[in-house]
Amino acid sequence: MTDAETPEFLAQENEKLRRQNAIKSDLISISAHQLRTSLSAMKWILKMLYDGDFGEMNPEQKNFTEKALDSNNRMIGFVNEMLSMNHTDDTLDEMKIIEVDLTKMIDELIFDFSGEAYKKGTQIIFLKPETKVELQADKEKIRVVIQNLIENAIKYSGNHAKIIITLTDKDHDIEISVHDNGIGIMDTDKDKIFGKFYRTDNAKKQDSVGSGLGLFVTRRIVEKHHGRIWFESKKDDGTTFFVEIPK
Ligand code: ADP
Repeated sequence: MTDAETPEFLAQENEKLRRQNAIKSDLISISAHQLRTSLSAMKWILKMLYDGDFGEMNPEQKNFTEKALDSNNRMIGFVNEMLSMNHTDDTLDEMKIIEVDLTKMIDELIFDFSGEAYKKGTQIIFLKPETKVELQADKEKIRVVIQNLIENAIKYSGNHAKIIITLTDKDHDIEISVHDNGIGIMDTDKDKIFGKFYRTDNAKKQDSVGSGLGLFVTRRIVEKHHGRIWFESKKDDGTTFFVEIPK
């Protein structure tokens, strides 16, 4: 048996590859997140131009703006896939636990979504706790959880919706809730929506862009933090998602 074939050597090489893979995944995740934020900002500017919010365009200008919007939408879909795929099985095992300021993170995420919210006339209210709420967690993964819930709340509500986010520091846990007054989820779909690639029919009608991976990934991340996720909903009346993570 040569040195390169010993179990110790193979274990070391295996560990090295696993670490390299985790670093690449993190890089993809951060880049995709930044890309999505910029693409979303572009999307609502293009939408406002297209809708004539800055003055009517001539047919040629409108035609080109529509093409830019289509292409932007495709890119957002692609980046969403990248984000979701990157958080499936393997990479979920790699946890980088640090102290996360959740109040600040939610504020930043609301800012990221302010363009889309403005365009739809959506009001996002964050009922902030009086003191800073911190959690020992994997920052990038927790960001994906809250981001997915806010994104869905906006996506699956009509115009002029009201979204309420709460953050509560309980004795042993931190609880985050995201409430919307949107399309809701039917009882028959309740057990399925955390499944891989599952999208309800009314969701497909409301928003054609979606992978059905967001909640699957979200639940995996929450469970990796030994927490739980659940929701209360009524069709056409809105949904509230709750996430509870032990401190
Ligand atoms: P996607 O949004 O890409 O379809 P998700 O995994 O995030 O995928 O959500 C899965 C499905 O759960 C959605 O397609 C939709 O049917 C339902 N859903 C998620 N969030 C909401 C919500 N806030 N209101 C209504 N339906 C929702």
